[in-house]
Amino acid sequence: MRLSAVTAGALTLPGQAISKISSPKLTDLYEFAINHTPEDYGVGTLIRLTDTTAFDDLSDLDLQEYRQTDDGEPAAYAQLDNTIIENIIDIDTVVRLEFSPGANPFWQLSNYEPRVFPPAIESVDDLDFEETITGLQTLEQRHDDRLSLTSIGQSPGWFNHALGDLEPSDVWVAELTNDIGDEAAFADKKKVIYACSIHGDERSGAEAGTRFIERLLKGEESETEALLDDVVLIFLYPNPDGWNARLPQYAQENQNSAERLTAKRGSARVEDTNRQYPTAGWIDPAYFPAEPDGTNLVDDDPDIDDDVPKAYQKNVPDPLKIVEHFRDYENLAYAADLHEMGYRKNFALGLHVNTEYDLQQTHDIYELNRELKPRLNDQLGDLLKEREDVFQQYIDEEAEDPEAVPLPTEIPFDYGTITDTLGYQTTGILVSWMGHPEEYGGLGMQTLAYEIAGPAPRWPELMDLNVMAYSEVIRSLAAHALRDVEATVQTGGRSTAYVTTDTVTRSSNDLVFAESKASHTGETMTVGPEPTTMTVAIEENTRSVTFQIVERTDTAVVATLRDPDGTVRATYDSQKDESDAARMCITESTSGKWTVEVINPREEPPEKGEVAVVVDTVTSEPIEDGIASLDPRDILGYEQREYEVTPFSFLEGYSEFLDEGQLDAVSVADVQDGALLDDGQPAYDNLVVIHNEGVEDAAYTDALDAFVNADGNVLLTDSGVRVLAHLDNDHVSSITEDDIHDETVFSVAMNAYEESHPLRENARPIQRELYTPAPVGYPVTTEGDAPATVVDVEQFQSADGDSAGRLMTTPNRDTVSDLVVAGSIQDNGTGVHIVGGLLPPAFQEQLHPFGMLNHSVSLLGYLTVTNALGHKQRRVVDGEEVIFGETILTGDQAQVYYPDATEDEDE
Ligand SMILES: [Zn+2]
Repeated sequence: MRLSAVTAGALTLPGQAISKISSPKLTDLYEFAINHTPEDYGVGTLIRLTDTTAFDDLSDLDLQEYRQTDDGEPAAYAQLDNTIIENIIDIDTVVRLEFSPGANPFWQLSNYEPRVFPPAIESVDDLDFEETITGLQTLEQRHDDRLSLTSIGQSPGWFNHALGDLEPSDVWVAELTNDIGDEAAFADKKKVIYACSIHGDERSGAEAGTRFIERLLKGEESETEALLDDVVLIFLYPNPDGWNARLPQYAQENQNSAERLTAKRGSARVEDTNRQYPTAGWIDPAYFPAEPDGTNLVDDDPDIDDDVPKAYQKNVPDPLKIVEHFRDYENLAYAADLHEMGYRKNFALGLHVNTEYDLQQTHDIYELNRELKPRLNDQLGDLLKEREDVFQQYIDEEAEDPEAVPLPTEIPFDYGTITDTLGYQTTGILVSWMGHPEEYGGLGMQTLAYEIAGPAPRWPELMDLNVMAYSEVIRSLAAHALRDVEATVQTGGRSTAYVTTDTVTRSSNDLVFAESKASHTGETMTVGPEPTTMTVAIEENTRSVTFQIVERTDTAVVATLRDPDGTVRATYDSQKDESDAARMCITESTSGKWTVEVINPREEPPEKGEVAVVVDTVTSEPIEDGIASLDPRDILGYEQREYEVTPFSFLEGYSEFLDEGQLDAVSVADVQDGALLDDGQPAYDNLVVIHNEGVEDAAYTDALDAFVNADGNVLLTDSGVRVLAHLDNDHVSSITEDDIHDETVFSVAMNAYEESHPLRENARPIQRELYTPAPVGYPVTTEGDAPATVVDVEQFQSADGDSAGRLMTTPNRDTVSDLVVAGSIQDNGTGVHIVGGLLPPAFQEQLHPFGMLNHSVSLLGYLTVTNALGHKQRRVVDGEEVIFGETILTGDQAQVYYPDATEDEDE
């Protein structure tokens, strides 16, 4: 077992005052706040007055965000810096100054007219945690037939330097429906969950969700209000620590910097609260997957089980309670996790997350996004364009390199997988867990994540747009919950068989555990203008190492990871990369001295910045034969969940959606015995081969050739692509073993593709990824562990093949390779098609405590199969067929996924 997370608090010396202002008119907390923020930082201040005569004096001072009220008690609000405070203290009618973070300047006076939560554009700052909960409690009192607020647990909590004590915060859930006390009706209704700001520094979710609750209760959301006899809206506030982190009493680092007075992505104990959920497939041992059923994965107790290892109770008490709480609902339908992202040309993105979905579920989720797109356009109208100058002003003021930052208004909304949209892979995220089947501990829901261009606090015109957009997401998802989406596959009468084998089945019974060991260490490094280096000794039999670079002070950092040979294995640049890239994971066993070098790349860097380098390694004893599976009991404290999975489950599932007929299973022996031909004619129109069993057997490959020559149509996927080298028929004869490669990459995707290729019919330009690796056990590593079997483009083309898509190899993810991942060698749709990565057998060598899914095929993956087989997918919504493959990008924009990608013909 690991000990505990390396926490920020242990590494720095917070709590030291910057200035020393004192007066009996200041509350203790206010005095702390004003003395522990930079002198020019505007501290949200409630100014209590004996009468209104001070209004003139105050308004003359030209105070930041000055507001006044005479509603009940006379008071004013302003964001005061140290230079002005003395003047205000001296005003006779000023009775007291109180710390007042939050959006509504007078929330501490319960001054809630005209509304509890003012519109973002009128707000003095982002919503504060305590303000939000106090305000929601007020709404609950006013509308106790519709709104119910519950604390479901507590965060780890920051140390409150003003109080001198550790201060956990509550994790709140707000439920909104008609007749909320009617338990039977509540149970029957469909539940729609909105996770509000699981990343604490991404405020838009909570800003929108909280205001939406009030708007609905005030009768301003008639479309959604009309659904409340059938739907329960559930708003989860999962990360109070990250939210509270911007308050000076909780400040973790050198406070002499306004940039440290910011909300944080993670909690007080973990860097990323959205990687700690018990998802199936690969789990990064650097995370704390929160499984409240404990070691035995069995629910022994109505609350968190006693056998949950202590490290989890300490580090992830909040995710533990969230998992426990949501497992109790009935009729869970949809969940959306509302995030923010850095600036790119999209204003908002819809993300299809990692789990196993059947064809209908996949279409259901994509349909939701298809509906959302025009709704967002209607809602935002021309405002995005109108406020381009505000976006530009924001970029100029906040970006390290304003020239490099695009205006996020070019494409208001697009949607695809996480890799399609953001270019990274995940494990352990909240909505993947919610999307998992219940037998895997999930909630069996249809889930998505959303991203939106995120502003820093105190940019009301930008937050206003985000609130509008996310309010539309909330409405749209609620409305969608009552729609009926059906997907079918029209075969056009084409019959299909697939070749079975036992060799791709994976079972927990196959696992051979060797004694495994995890270690967790960390070191603080100085980041300055000169490089500094830390050495990490990696032992023999190491199976994976995760290096996380965590900024401890306001600094920019370029980190370089080198192996014992001095080869650069990963880099991270905090000014350019997504924060996920700060986690550099390598799966291999090269023992020796690895180094991490850090440097501040800014032109005039401060003398000293600090990062923590946190290193998690997993080792296991060698075994006689083959490769041991890592024992989750030794590493995480959980038993291995039992499973038996096979990628054939994908084909069986697909078969259920055919409008006529079914997919027939035939064995290699059946093929050898002539199952593919009937009197010289194809016995089936299509044959699917997802593996290379039998390729050395001429009777098998001869039968495949005869089938192709008789105009049978073949789809080869994954290691089945290797069959190409053994074929000699009218379509395929020249491709050899040397032309075919087994690659492992970060993401198996058509990174560069031919837009009009038939395999991409009905695909939208952003769609590139074919399957997500983690749910089937493949680690999300810097160098890429996701398998694909691909063909050299030159050989493929000289064999009369048309490439549909080429792969981008890792680690050079900015360069498109010359390897065909999808393509066809065919005439009029009949011939041989390849999809090199779609249905890999599950990978069992790395940690996967919560079992394994059968497959994790994307909608694009489904489409390639349908198109290769000459089928058509139909999507019917409430009885009406909809067109789902609409184009957003065209021409050059559509060609290459990564914005900076270049085509390198030499590669
Ligand atoms: Zn996020």
